[in-house]
Amino acid sequence: MKKHNFSAGPSILSEYTIKNAAAAVENFAGTGLSILEVSHRSKEFVAVNDEARALIKELLDVPAGYEVVFLGGGASMQFCMVPFNLLNKKASYLDTGTWASNAIKEAKLFGEVDVVASSKEANYTYIPKGYTVAEDSDYFHFTSNNTIYGTEMRYDPDLNVRLVSDMSSDIFSRPIDISKYDVIYAGAQKNLAPAGVTLAIVRTEALGHVDRAIPTMLNYNTHIKKDSMFNTPPVFPIFAALQTLKWYKELGGVAVIEKMNLEKAAILYDEIDRNRLFKGTAAVEDRSIMNVCFVMNDEYKELEDEFNKFASAAGMVGIKGHRSVGGFRASLYNAMPKSSVEALVATMKEFEKLH
Ligand code: PMP
Repeated sequence: MKKHNFSAGPSILSEYTIKNAAAAVENFAGTGLSILEVSHRSKEFVAVNDEARALIKELLDVPAGYEVVFLGGGASMQFCMVPFNLLNKKASYLDTGTWASNAIKEAKLFGEVDVVASSKEANYTYIPKGYTVAEDSDYFHFTSNNTIYGTEMRYDPDLNVRLVSDMSSDIFSRPIDISKYDVIYAGAQKNLAPAGVTLAIVRTEALGHVDRAIPTMLNYNTHIKKDSMFNTPPVFPIFAALQTLKWYKELGGVAVIEKMNLEKAAILYDEIDRNRLFKGTAAVEDRSIMNVCFVMNDEYKELEDEFNKFASAAGMVGIKGHRSVGGFRASLYNAMPKSSVEALVATMKEFEKLH
């Protein structure tokens, strides 16, 4: 039986991505070689690398003055690469969860960090608002979607300083006004590809303003100047990323995908709000359309394990919440079909009837 994969990451990929990746493991682009063994300098793979970066620019409407690169080290490497390249004296950060606070920890190695607001005292169940960002900050960093807590900033903030965002878990889920940002980064393993590659979109003008020496591999310019081929890139994840990007284009682009995502999330949140057994954990106005977090209602707390087993028997995978939140988390990334969300809702309704 095909499972319904609600995992937070690595997570569901489109059938299109998986089928084409599987075929290329056998025979890549008619080369008679597997994508797993082909040279990254082969003309066939260079074409993949170039097409993937071009499609990212097309799908996200990336204006002139920006470069797209594929990097190693996961989104976590960007926590240090961003301040290495951009932080001279002071940077401002919004603390909205574990990943944001990991980014803050790294930035402190490079200069003064002003945490403009934090929702830590409420276990990150909401996005702080009404904070001010000092105009003399080198940049403002925020996590657009908090994968663990199910909160999301589905807008591009208007600020007078450079803007940096960790979009690991919601990139390609909606149109973005790239012109407001200086660096956007995202690990691939949610909305793009298997783990192993990280995407960065960098405004080239933002680089070159820090005094420190930057190690070659951690310098965005190294990768930009070599068309993202300075060293051996993660060949297979980039091939898989290209398949996902082609599928996004076929679907009609990120505006169409956003509509689908809003519809899927509404189906599940409506059930959470209706079903007497469950309740959502994130503030309603900050609810993520990518990661839907919920718990058993107080009077049904003892049913948590039972629901986990019940859902798992119905083919649901990966709905156990992160250990710091408990309960459940259903990740509804772009590749998640509406039918799987409906299957989860049907399971919740059936479980309610039993109790
Ligand atoms: N940022 C966010 C928003 C994430 O969800 C994650 C991983 N789940 C990370 C950063 C860390 O990514 P990686 O494991 O690729 O370093």
